[in-house]
Amino acid sequence: MSSGTYLQRCIACHSEFDLAARLYVCSRCGGLLDVDRREAIAIDPASLRELWRARKSSLDKRDRSGVWRFREFLPFADDVEVVSLGEGNTPLYDAPRCTDYCGLFHLKLKHQGCNPTGSFKDTGMTVAVTQARRIGARFVACASTGNTAASLAAYAARADLRCAIIVPGGQVSHAKLAQALDYGAKVLEIEGNFDVCMNVIRELSEDGAVYLVNSINPFRIEGQKTVAFELAEQLEWRVPDHLVLPGGNLGNSSAFGKGFRELLQSGLIDRMPRITVVQAAGAAPFARFYAEDDHRAFVNEEHPQTLASAIKIGAPVSWPKALRAVNETGGGVITVTEQEIADAKAVIGRDGIGCEPASATTVAGIRKLVSDGAIAQSDSVVAVLTGHLLKDTDYVMQYHSDSLLAPDGTHIAGNLSNRPIRTSASIGSIKSALSM
Ligand SMILES: [Zn+2]
Repeated sequence: MSSGTYLQRCIACHSEFDLAARLYVCSRCGGLLDVDRREAIAIDPASLRELWRARKSSLDKRDRSGVWRFREFLPFADDVEVVSLGEGNTPLYDAPRCTDYCGLFHLKLKHQGCNPTGSFKDTGMTVAVTQARRIGARFVACASTGNTAASLAAYAARADLRCAIIVPGGQVSHAKLAQALDYGAKVLEIEGNFDVCMNVIRELSEDGAVYLVNSINPFRIEGQKTVAFELAEQLEWRVPDHLVLPGGNLGNSSAFGKGFRELLQSGLIDRMPRITVVQAAGAAPFARFYAEDDHRAFVNEEHPQTLASAIKIGAPVSWPKALRAVNETGGGVITVTEQEIADAKAVIGRDGIGCEPASATTVAGIRKLVSDGAIAQSDSVVAVLTGHLLKDTDYVMQYHSDSLLAPDGTHIAGNLSNRPIRTSASIGSIKSALSM
């Protein structure tokens, strides 16, 4: 398979560009780009499934990666050495307490927070940084609410590339910032929110000084789409009725849409799951847009507000691709409140599964969809958790000590809080604290 099999194509005007063209958007109309194959895969579904299963016992670096294991659907895996940290291969969990909480019979959680840097970003970053090296980029950069920063910093370090990260000053969790610093990236904290960071970085990338690896970069989406492959494989190629995702910059929703579309076109699955995106009510430009009848003008949210910092984004660049995914699958876009996110996160925790706040929008959203009748109790549902619990421990400690405040200052009740207990070191008081 040569890279000549693949090209970049504008999703709006369908202009085609070489795979090696250093573009982020269409140079003719400014539309988003897809990486696509020129012709369909020539291998039959049964052989592909067999091949992918066999690779699980291989020691080849590409086979150890949950992304590159599916490289029949990725560009250039045979032409270059891939930059990999063994990403993907994340668990699909049963979650009995969450299942009850949502009012369902069949709910599973796909935990993308179990990636090497603790978020789903790694599955896209392995492909984008491999592309960066392939086209000779020396300097990679991104704007980030934290997870992309941590991921890019790690992959850039593995690839021996210089790396610049632009983050909104004072708005990124310490854990995420610590990761980027430890991996050796230059971290620039600027005044302004994520959307300001994104504008600055796009300008910086225009003259070619840096290679931009935000999710506007179509190679990120290529890597992230393989999560659909891994998920379908884990479900023995039986697609769930619903797939529910958090919505921030909307690259992930776009990627799942593309992944399931390619699986369907290749005969690996017989239908697509309904893809529903859940946004925090204070950062919900996509939900507002979707609720309009005519879908005419996308209006950015100038001051997005949510404690779920990973999805605190008012100008999501990938919305046209996410809209395509939602529309073609018959899914939807909804919002949940800060209180709903906090409680859902605690329920996920009680299942022994730790996620960051943004991930919990999914369980909060599913509960709402079930109670509204949009999801039937007997439907099969998969929620995608995008980041690990340890990404934002301040939030967790405040919730469990019942001192969490929403961005507008209102108190978020610790309905499921679990406070630490101060006690003396005597056996008697410890037994009494444990009600023994
Ligand atoms: Zn175009």
